[in-house]
Amino acid sequence: MIYRNEMKLKVKALSENESFCRACVASFCSSLIPSIEELSDIKTAVSEAVTNCVVHAYPVEKGFIDISVKIIGSSVYITIADNGVGIENVEKAKEPFYTTIKTGERSGMGFSVMESFMDSVVVKSELGKGVTVTMIKKIGSNACAIGG
Ligand code: ATP
Ligand code: MG
Repeated sequence: MIYRNEMKLKVKALSENESFCRACVASFCSSLIPSIEELSDIKTAVSEAVTNCVVHAYPVEKGFIDISVKIIGSSVYITIADNGVGIENVEKAKEPFYTTIKTGERSGMGFSVMESFMDSVVVKSELGKGVTVTMIKKIGSNACAIGG
């Protein structure tokens, strides 16, 4: 029988909840006994997706971030969603260095970082309805790299 586990987390889109979300998801994934590097990859990707909800999704009144994590076999499926303003052109938003924040404090690398640390990243959005980011990572695929 294939191993399955699942959790859901709903938090307000505030910057002080970013480290909580990152630690929570990482802790849940620890049942798969990930390497330090795999865990750090997951934490970084979750941070970027959650930070996007905090920074971009709710310019007027802060709403919620819905996080769902599923473990199926040795793969982790993480969904991070908001009900905010949404993204008009997802393909453009995913380009490296693309940012709508004009102050210079954002580098526009969030989606690129998620893509480089996870095996798959899918972004879905409808303007005015929010954004859903689904990321997949297989744990343990580098196991035989240790010690040759
Ligand atoms: P960085 O992540 O490097 O600090 P950034 O957040 O602008 O900068 P990305 O994370 O790559 O860069 O996101 C690109 C753009 O996509 C953002 O500037 C923003 O316009 C849009 N975006 C991303 N996530 C959301 C979201 N949850 N809601 C609305 N817009 C978003
Ligand atoms: Mg970002």
